[in-house]
Amino acid sequence: MTNIKLKGNRCPTCNGRGTIIKNPFEVDCPKCNGTGLVNIANACKKCGGSGSIILPELAMETDCPRCNGTGLEPLK
Ligand SMILES: [Zn+2]
Ligand SMILES: [Zn+2]
Repeated sequence: MTNIKLKGNRCPTCNGRGTIIKNPFEVDCPKCNGTGLVNIANACKKCGGSGSIILPELAMETDCPRCNGTGLEPLK
């Protein structure tokens, strides 16, 4: 186990809202298909799909190094 705190599986592209602004329209987020949640089957194992992790020693949030902030498990 790790002591990294997860933010949950909120979609990092739309911040869990399910929509993004594509001027001048608000459209369904293409990453989560409007659900506001990332696909758990694909979610990065390090950050749980949030795309960022908390560094406990610094109490700082940073882009997840495993998925580069995408929240998706990298394909090999
Ligand atoms: Zn989304
Ligand atoms: Zn990640």
